[in-house]
Amino acid sequence: MERKEFRELITSEDARRIVNQIKVLSGTEFVHVGNATGRILAEDVLSTVDVPAFNRSVKDGYAVRARDTYMATEPEPASLRLTGSIPAGCADSFFVNDGEAIEISTGAPIPEGSDAVIMVEQTKQAEDIVQIYQPVHIAENIMRAGSDIMKGERVLRKNTRLGSREIGVLASIGKMEVPVKKLLVGIISTGDELIEPGTELQPGKIFDANSYAIAANVEECGAVPRMYGIVPDEEKLMEAALDRAIAECNIVLTSGSTSAGIGDIMYKIIEEKGETLAHGIAIKPGKPVVIGMINGVPTIGLPGNPTSALSIFNEFVAPIIYNSLGVAPAFKTRVSAVMGTAIRSGGREELFPVGVVRGRAYPADKTSGAITTLADADGIIEIRAQTEYIEAGSPVEVTMFGNARSPDLMFVGGQCPGVDLLEDLTGKMIRTLNMGSSAGFTAIAGGTTDIAGVNMPDAQGEYNLPVIRKMGLTDVVLVKGYRRELGLIFRPSAKVTCFEDLIGMRLINRNRGSGTRTILDMEIGRLAAQKGISRAELAKSIEGYNSGSKTHRSVCDAVKDGRADAGFGLRAAAEEAGLAFLPVTEDEFDFVIRKDVLDAEEVILFLSTLNSKAFSERLPAGLRTYERTGEMISSFEMG
Ligand code: AMP
Ligand code: MG
Repeated sequence: MERKEFRELITSEDARRIVNQIKVLSGTEFVHVGNATGRILAEDVLSTVDVPAFNRSVKDGYAVRARDTYMATEPEPASLRLTGSIPAGCADSFFVNDGEAIEISTGAPIPEGSDAVIMVEQTKQAEDIVQIYQPVHIAENIMRAGSDIMKGERVLRKNTRLGSREIGVLASIGKMEVPVKKLLVGIISTGDELIEPGTELQPGKIFDANSYAIAANVEECGAVPRMYGIVPDEEKLMEAALDRAIAECNIVLTSGSTSAGIGDIMYKIIEEKGETLAHGIAIKPGKPVVIGMINGVPTIGLPGNPTSALSIFNEFVAPIIYNSLGVAPAFKTRVSAVMGTAIRSGGREELFPVGVVRGRAYPADKTSGAITTLADADGIIEIRAQTEYIEAGSPVEVTMFGNARSPDLMFVGGQCPGVDLLEDLTGKMIRTLNMGSSAGFTAIAGGTTDIAGVNMPDAQGEYNLPVIRKMGLTDVVLVKGYRRELGLIFRPSAKVTCFEDLIGMRLINRNRGSGTRTILDMEIGRLAAQKGISRAELAKSIEGYNSGSKTHRSVCDAVKDGRADAGFGLRAAAEEAGLAFLPVTEDEFDFVIRKDVLDAEEVILFLSTLNSKAFSERLPAGLRTYERTGEMISSFEMG
């Protein structure tokens, strides 16, 4: 099949110029004040009532005539006759005469005849006599009708974004139906591989993340998303979906299928139906972006990768929405950070996804195309085309995705339920990148994590320390963690009585670089030695040996649904999945921590939690603390 090459990419400045000129007309609708958060007011709102609607007391005390109190002093109090009591919300009418007082609550209407309220603290009451110890002046402690909001007053201006404060104002004037702008943004996800979240995941498929992420972003901008669901990579179907969306919406967004690949036909449809304003922007990841206009409806094809889709949305779609709604781009939350590690770029301007942990920005682009990147990215930094290298420690500005809360601690390494427990017990938010022990060591060496979680033995079975020595890591400490029971995981129906039974079963292995995989290799080596053959030879005879699943949980999933017969991993994971477990060995799961974060409050808490009784007691089956738990090794003889 013929592959269409990209036309000339336009510069990001030109793309910005194009989108800044696009403005569409929005409609108006009335929504209940309870559903108006984030929407944009379509009209000025004038109050039809006074707030408060009556003169009211701002203190608990007594409604009096001020002149009756003018002579009152501590030693010679004025005595007034108590004639009644007015609670808040009371609608009865009362009258205060000379020499009288009426008890009154905060928020209650001031009775006729009274012109001041004396606070209860400056009085003493006995039977129906109130002693007043201090004078009050006229109007003291009285809030006059309309002093907050006056009838006829404009309380909110057209084009105001409705947040908690504005919603409160609307409710306080009794306005329940609010006129807001209705800018409908149609959203179409394309791709044969997509399925609807909430349905069962099929082999080779991924859940459609973009429809929901983009819809949320549209809402955050103050517009109204309308989802058209998933459309397969088929020209006729895509065309039909686009036709519908364009007929119904003010703006249409698609994601996926924008690169010039086979079956990627989005741009072609825009070309045929309307006018293409840009096909590819010279910004990373803007290459697969189409900006077009079909029947006056801006139609933008976003990249399929979810992080890319959101980055491009923020940069080139949000401005169109803001222009059309007549609001300032209020939702760009920028935070200052310093680069936690150096990054290379260059050639093209770049929207570079980063995670932000305690003010340090880390690259989050480990594998473009992975949804996990979206989970690990808090925002993007904009890198200019001329910038080739950003040094670690350089200040950067991060444009956050929505109002993401950035985590307190960064963890890279092997997946372990013990780490989940540490996160729960510390109450801190730990970003865990479960990529295996080797990735943990690499990240700690590169300064891209605070903590690495590792279980990597050397040939003699010594855990982790030899790796630190070999890598020459000097600015870290090793903190001994806990021991974990590892063994064969299989369905309860299978007959497995010893490690050797693995031979003849289909294995789901862990990823290369995982400590657990290395430990399995050692066990395979031991068995091979008994049989008098090489480890490689024995490994080759095990079906599935070359597979690589990233977590203990995903190993269990594969065994559970029959994709494999056996896995090697944690008892805790096997039990959680309802699978059978044959213990084989125990490993040591440790933490490597950068010295420069040892003083951080979050790290101190992490370590004290590791040493706590609560942690020992609540560890899941097969995990146990031991005499070395919490031991800190900080100097290493380099080998
Ligand atoms: P495409 O632009 O169609 O080549 O897609 C690029 C990458 O993004 C592919 O790995 C797609 O599977 C992925 N992708 C496309 N659309 C979506 C979506 N709606 N949700 C999650 N991932 C997607
Ligand atoms: Mg696709």
